[in-house]
Amino acid sequence: MKICLTPILIGLSLAIVLAGCKEKSPSENPNKQSQLVEELIAEMSLEEKVGQMTQLTLSMFMTDQNELDIDKIRHAIVTKKVGSILNVNGRALSISEWHTLLNKIQDIATKETNLKIPILYGIDAIHGTSYTQDATLFPHNIGMAATRNVNLVGKISKITAMETRASGIRWNFDPALGAGRQPLWSRFEETFGESEHIAAEMGLSAIRAYEEDGLKSRTAVASCMKHFIGYSNPRSGKDRTPAYIPDIELREFYLPAFEEVAQYSSTAMINSGEINGMPLHGSKYYLQSILRDELGFEGLVVTDWEDIKRLFIRHKIASSPKEAVRIGINAGIDMSMVPSDYSFTDFLIELVNEGKVSMQTIDASVRRILKLKEDLGLFDNPYPEPEAVKNFGKKEYTQAALQAARESITLLKNNGGLPLSKKSKVLLMGPAANNKGCLHGSWSFTWQGDNENNYPASTKTLLDALKDKIGVESVISNAHTDFNHPSNTDISYLKSKATNSDVIVLALGEVSYAESPGGIDNLELDANQINLAKAAFKTGKPVIALLAQGRPRVISEIEPGLDGIVNLYRPASQGANATMDILFGDYNPSGKLPYTYQRNTGDILLYDRKGSDEFKEISPDVYAGGGYNPQWPFGHGLSYTDYKYDRLELNKSIISEGDKLKISLTIQNIGNMDGLHSVDLFIKDHYASISPSFMRLRKFQKVQLKKGESITVNFTVLPKDLSMINEVGDRVIEPGTFSIIIGDQIAEFQYQ
Ligand code: BGC
Repeated sequence: MKICLTPILIGLSLAIVLAGCKEKSPSENPNKQSQLVEELIAEMSLEEKVGQMTQLTLSMFMTDQNELDIDKIRHAIVTKKVGSILNVNGRALSISEWHTLLNKIQDIATKETNLKIPILYGIDAIHGTSYTQDATLFPHNIGMAATRNVNLVGKISKITAMETRASGIRWNFDPALGAGRQPLWSRFEETFGESEHIAAEMGLSAIRAYEEDGLKSRTAVASCMKHFIGYSNPRSGKDRTPAYIPDIELREFYLPAFEEVAQYSSTAMINSGEINGMPLHGSKYYLQSILRDELGFEGLVVTDWEDIKRLFIRHKIASSPKEAVRIGINAGIDMSMVPSDYSFTDFLIELVNEGKVSMQTIDASVRRILKLKEDLGLFDNPYPEPEAVKNFGKKEYTQAALQAARESITLLKNNGGLPLSKKSKVLLMGPAANNKGCLHGSWSFTWQGDNENNYPASTKTLLDALKDKIGVESVISNAHTDFNHPSNTDISYLKSKATNSDVIVLALGEVSYAESPGGIDNLELDANQINLAKAAFKTGKPVIALLAQGRPRVISEIEPGLDGIVNLYRPASQGANATMDILFGDYNPSGKLPYTYQRNTGDILLYDRKGSDEFKEISPDVYAGGGYNPQWPFGHGLSYTDYKYDRLELNKSIISEGDKLKISLTIQNIGNMDGLHSVDLFIKDHYASISPSFMRLRKFQKVQLKKGESITVNFTVLPKDLSMINEVGDRVIEPGTFSIIIGDQIAEFQYQ
């Protein structure tokens, strides 16, 4: 984004206001008006236009035998003139099933309708091509954020684009850009964690990978920046419930990722919830003033699932379903994911005829929809491209999935027992030991990701991978494939087998879930898992915990007794192999927490808390915690080697507008193993007109160091990296003292 600098007087000091004056993206077509699109619009009836704005779910058109009901789909496309379809009906399809299905759909659209406009099909391929059998699934965003490897995000997103396109689908509802700052939220695993900076960098990398080859290319899909905006921090922690986010906070932590990508993403999906009482789907402020005017977003805006209806049903800002359509469309929605009936279509036609929605509004939306169809090459060839299938299931994708899982997995604690010897006899227990779903999480061959039968036979559980690593004869386990099966936490089994083992490995965590079914009321790990760990401690054997979980579950009760703790997040298809590589020292862990791992449910303060969050009464000092007492801080992550930081140097001690601050740091690998290492650079603003954050992550970088090797890493900090949102909601840079903080190295400088 280009920034306009305007000096203004704040108090006695001169602050710089950073206004968002947008540059046009290179991909933006200067002759935006497409002749084809304009000709179509001129010819289209109101019904045809409104049909284009309608998106329905595939389940509406499937028979009980899961086959396409030709009469129903014909009714949708020919009679109701529907222009977009999404989703699967319950389970992932094979490539050939997808092709058969899409060929039939496109045949009807392009051969049986008046204007022959192809269907725009959309899917959630959010950590790999989730709804195609045998596609490669990668760690969820929360794990990718732990890799701190932006290029790796690009690499796996490109594979996702290719496997999705190979399936015949050209629109991917990804990436989710909301900052994960509410660990109770069941979609936490879909976020890049609590730093808006990581979300912005990684989101951009994903979007570029999806779209950079040009949307007509067989290696591209249209991306969808979602869920605009503020979805990820519901006050109650429950999915799709209201958020209360002051404008200052919205602009500090939630807007930057969308700002970063708005010029590059072809589409946007809207937050199903409310901010400060205003449902986003009905808000001109969020959809026009911020998304269009401020961010300059010119792409297609789609609702989330059923969200126009919900303006009436849930949010009660519309007094009828028809009123909800009027509010949503006039607020700035282009396409409604209705998704299961024709109410939207019928109401919108009536509303235009009654003069309550203007034809200009309709045309503007239809123009964006048709333009996307044109950009995607659907008018040239709407059918699945047989050539694209060559890009499906390549061998190297498995390697990329392994690399992603290895780089994401985060070693949280090591009393010295890790890595384990391959000669160890291992007792493996816990609900996650023999279950594939918990390694994958949401959107994994099914929406909930919890159907073990839908995972490819080649996908291993932790138990499978352990046996492969050290041999069947060295593994003791009664692990059941059902996460919740009582044998997984059977304490009598544990007691009877522990004596024959050298080490107990407990695979703990969360069953797979997606969206609201994953709601929880407290963050503590389930009692049966806690009790299993406590029983393991009593055996006197070393106990290692593996945490397969979408969000940080509180484990403070058992942490002291554990000799090693490894956070797997949702590592997906190669997660089990990667875990065993790390457990037995074939891979040196490098993952860094993308969130603050809280010690107590009632103490959720993030790394960028305010200084005043650490409030403590001096007398009487009854509140000893001081407000910030995490189990592990943001950025924590151990390795099997040690790194020493030295010589943090800045090229200037004072910078001003237009300057660049060059920063260098020496890092040495002083241990005995080669490793990848992530360097997080934080900036602390000492004093500001708004109480400043304790510190903010402004840069990160991943480097490789052989044992004994010493390297210099360089960063460039620009004045905009010092900016903050002030009392009136402007992004400003205020003069003053700042510190660069990298690990134990700190250096001060001034901005004036
Ligand atoms: C989710 C979206 C998703 C959509 C379509 C909704 O329930 O919130 O993230 O893209 O379904 O599957």
